[in-house]
Amino acid sequence: MRIRFSRVERVERVELRMEKRDMKAVVVLSGGQDSATCLALAVRRYGAANVAAITFRYGQRHALETKFAKRLAKRFGVAAHKVVSLDFYRQLTTNALMSKTVPIQWKKGARCPTTVVEGRNAFFLLAAAVWAKSLGATVLYTGVSEADFSGYPDCREAFIRAQQRMLRLALEWPVKIVTPFMHMSKAAEWALAERLGILDVIENETLTCYNGIPGKGCGKCPACRLRNRGYAEFRAAKSVSRRPRRD
Ligand SMILES: [Zn+2]
Repeated sequence: MRIRFSRVERVERVELRMEKRDMKAVVVLSGGQDSATCLALAVRRYGAANVAAITFRYGQRHALETKFAKRLAKRFGVAAHKVVSLDFYRQLTTNALMSKTVPIQWKKGARCPTTVVEGRNAFFLLAAAVWAKSLGATVLYTGVSEADFSGYPDCREAFIRAQQRMLRLALEWPVKIVTPFMHMSKAAEWALAERLGILDVIENETLTCYNGIPGKGCGKCPACRLRNRGYAEFRAAKSVSRRPRRD
């Protein structure tokens, strides 16, 4: 019996055949400040021709995120960028990022705000690692941080260490998860963006806001508050270091 492939399946098969097989790194790219800076670091370390980026659709309210990720991938000239659908997420859980009816708030006594997407980084890193192996890449970049964070359990270093071990066992592939911001404050991250010469890109071409407003965002949601507070600290530190010394 002949198996017929749909047009989409045919396109995807061709895509996979055409992909390079000697890449170095895959960056989990959401379109926000952290992942965009990760992308810049990976490109600087390995060269754009050896870096791929992956973006996930998991039912988030703001489809704009994907648009920003696509633009960033283009701007940094990475060898491949893929937007992968994890639509099943909606069948498993809900939260303020996926549903308009869940308010963004940090309830008293809760470990993290209602924006937590349970297990998101575990799924993201597994999917990214599967693709990385098919590209010949062993390095995965993710912008997670436990320095200035919202208490999401899958942003902690302990989780990343365990996930790396799990991926190595699951795939028999020497995956290395790189987390440049694990112990870095947002202010230090802004300073890094400046040193990398991408301050303007991070300021204007990323989307961090939980309300889907690019750049500085709504200024009110937890993500904006974290980003903007870090930015203010970064600016303040700069003006102090520029002040002439009175000896
Ligand atoms: Zn916001």
